[in-house]
Amino acid sequence: MIEIARIPVLTDNYVWLVHDGESKETAAIDPAVAGPVLAAAEARGWRITQIWNTHWHPDHTGGNAEIRQATGCTVTGPAAEAERIPTLDRLVAEGDVVHLGGHAARVIDVPAHTAGHIAYLMPAAKAAFVGDTLFAMGCGRLFEGTAAEMFANMRKLEALPDDTAVYCAHEYTQSNGRYALAAEPGNEAIARRMAEVDALRARGEATVPTTIALERATNPFMRAASIEELAERRAAKDSFRG
Ligand SMILES: [Zn+2]
Repeated sequence: MIEIARIPVLTDNYVWLVHDGESKETAAIDPAVAGPVLAAAEARGWRITQIWNTHWHPDHTGGNAEIRQATGCTVTGPAAEAERIPTLDRLVAEGDVVHLGGHAARVIDVPAHTAGHIAYLMPAAKAAFVGDTLFAMGCGRLFEGTAAEMFANMRKLEALPDDTAVYCAHEYTQSNGRYALAAEPGNEAIARRMAEVDALRARGEATVPTTIALERATNPFMRAASIEELAERRAAKDSFRG
């Protein structure tokens, strides 16, 4: 059985711990920092055996070295960003498979937020670890790539099964939702979701993971009908003050 734990760190980052009860392996996804992640694993009686990075940004890799030193874990990350993540032991790209015990995770390329951004798809857990590519009602900023690339990423991700849980790396949902309401004022699914999100946040609770089905219904970037529309929406969100 696979268990997944959410570790909130820094201002709004989420690090995910993925634990396989059979092999006792635990993967830390995008550890921004080491201390709270090591403590969260220890509190559950888990030992981190792997780190999986989605992209080079320091708030996704900052804990790599210290966690590896403390645990002897193996660090896997995007081959295309190896020069920017000196702590990588294993370099992966589209089509590669990484294992947590007996469970496979398939690597897909999702460039745009960064040039070598990857995601990890784990069918046994119905899970997608998407880093800063897909957020609840949002997508990552296009720092090193194009709207065309992000549009292609959305096509890859929306093709996943409805009930795939999407583990994003930030709690951005409320801000994304305010823009989503402005982008699609007639979309009742967004309005309903925002009421739930506002209630969760008022109680200080997390709004992720999300699901592929929910994103298909409420995400203005996944729902953009063309590259041009995605580009317009991304630019509008970048300057949106809702
Ligand atoms: Zn990032």
